Amino acid sequence: MSAHGCPVVIGGGAAGLLVALCLAPRPVVLLCGGTLGFETASGWAQGGIAAAVGPDDDASLHARDTLNAGAGLCDAAVVRRIIEAGPWAIDFLARLGADFGRHADGALALGLEAAHSRRRIVHAKDATGAEIMRVLSQAARAAQHITILEHSSATGLAARDNRICGVHAATPAGALSIGTDCVVMATGGVGGLFAHTTNPLRATGTGLALAARAGADLRDMEFVQFHPTALACGLDPMPLVSEAVRGEGARFTDGAGARFMQGGDLAARDIVARAVAAKYAADEPVFLDARAIPAQTFPGIFSTCRAQGIDPATQPIPVRPAAHYHMGGIAVNADCESSVAGLFACGEAAATGLHGANRLASNSLLEAMVTGRIVARAISGRAVRAGNITPEAPRLLEATPLIRDICSKYMGIYRDAAGLQTAIAQLRPLAARCAPALAALLIAQSALRRRESRGAHTRTDFPETDAAQARSTTINISDLTATGLAA
Ligand SMILES: Cc1cc2nc3c(=O)[nH]c(=O)nc-3n(C[C@H](O)[C@H](O)[C@H](O)COP(=O)(O)OP(=O)(O)OC[C@H]3O[C@@H](n4cnc5c(N)ncnc54)[C@H](O)[C@@H]3O)c2cc1C
Repeated sequence: MSAHGCPVVIGGGAAGLLVALCLAPRPVVLLCGGTLGFETASGWAQGGIAAAVGPDDDASLHARDTLNAGAGLCDAAVVRRIIEAGPWAIDFLARLGADFGRHADGALALGLEAAHSRRRIVHAKDATGAEIMRVLSQAARAAQHITILEHSSATGLAARDNRICGVHAATPAGALSIGTDCVVMATGGVGGLFAHTTNPLRATGTGLALAARAGADLRDMEFVQFHPTALACGLDPMPLVSEAVRGEGARFTDGAGARFMQGGDLAARDIVARAVAAKYAADEPVFLDARAIPAQTFPGIFSTCRAQGIDPATQPIPVRPAAHYHMGGIAVNADCESSVAGLFACGEAAATGLHGANRLASNSLLEAMVTGRIVARAISGRAVRAGNITPEAPRLLEATPLIRDICSKYMGIYRDAAGLQTAIAQLRPLAARCAPALAALLIAQSALRRRESRGAHTRTDFPETDAAQARSTTINISDLTATGLAA
């Protein structure tokens, strides 16, 4: 099959796979940075997927919790639409064969996570993402309409007159340029930009940078969520100790074994991450005491700890905050189309309005699934045209140790103007050729502009939340070029 004139989906996580599967029987090309089914945030998800399916729950309660976590920046209509599709997402996966935990009567076993007012986390023990990716990858490999290009990374987009017209990629067979006026960015998050992260190291925001270069607006870029409990054992990326472990009773302790979390161990993620970061800033280690939890409740997490010489049954688990999830991304409308015609975005790469300033735990797999379906529906009625595009020099896709160091030092949990300006000055010379540096620059510039603290964005020089800034902001490459920030 010729790739020209087909929709091209960039990214083989849950969001990209949903688009490709839901487009059937229409031919579609899937570019996947690694081996399909591996090295995606989707596959690493532990806690599960949030859906209001319990007998004491409904979509309005789930929506209320989501809006509370979002600190005033969620789009209520988007929240409602995505959350109402929760039961569909669970049913879709179950029909593909996902083996979710169930009670003896067949009802789904529901977990509890921070800031959820009900048990609503559908899970497959502590390896939910792996189970979801197992069934989605299997279905994609079996589908006749999907051409999968593995180990193939998008290195550039072609756009003309604010309309997308193609994709440049590096593939094992060499450089490839595909002419198409329908491209879907499903490239995931930005955690790999930071020195401490739970994300696959390929999650460096390259999709956001390529979209920005093509002229797309980006939204809420400053909002990066740091997970409070990554396993502090020297691995890069850092294994996650899911919030569900606290949901089952684990508690934070300091080096002396004393509890210190004011506001509760299951307070919203940003609050907990700040408290843990403050301990680290004072050179005090932080632990999660899970000794009362039976090992079989979290077999994957417990065995990861044991492989690092820590036995959670007998000793507290050392943890520290790590970059985990990006609320911001490519600004999209209700069809998940960006400000560049024909360029769509879904999953973590998109800023849909679901999360606002802070993501509610386990809402992102749900968003990946539901926005994947929205994109497929929007595309399915459109004619897609091929066209000639001229090959171009690829952008670099790797986040170097220098970039990761800059992001961690100046763009982490606590930020201020001086640090952000330093980050901008250091990233600027790198951003023209290096996609992760451009993504980082867009985050730094957005963080500098938001002169308040809200959700996951904490400015030590503006510690208060300012009601006058209770709105999403967008940034465009022209904002950087106008101020001389990007060549
Ligand atoms: C350790 C961990 C645990 C988590 N636990 C949960 C949880 O319990 N519940 C929950 O809801 N969420 C969880 N999350 C978040 C959630 O997993 C992600 O937000 C979600 O899966 C994102 O899906 P995605 O398809 O958008 O991106 P991903 O699954 O990250 O997929 C991105 C894809 O894009 C590819 N890619 C990137 N750049 C390029 C490029 N330039 N060219 C080609 N391909 C490219 C990657 O190789 C990958 O295939 C967790 C995240 C992590 C890291």
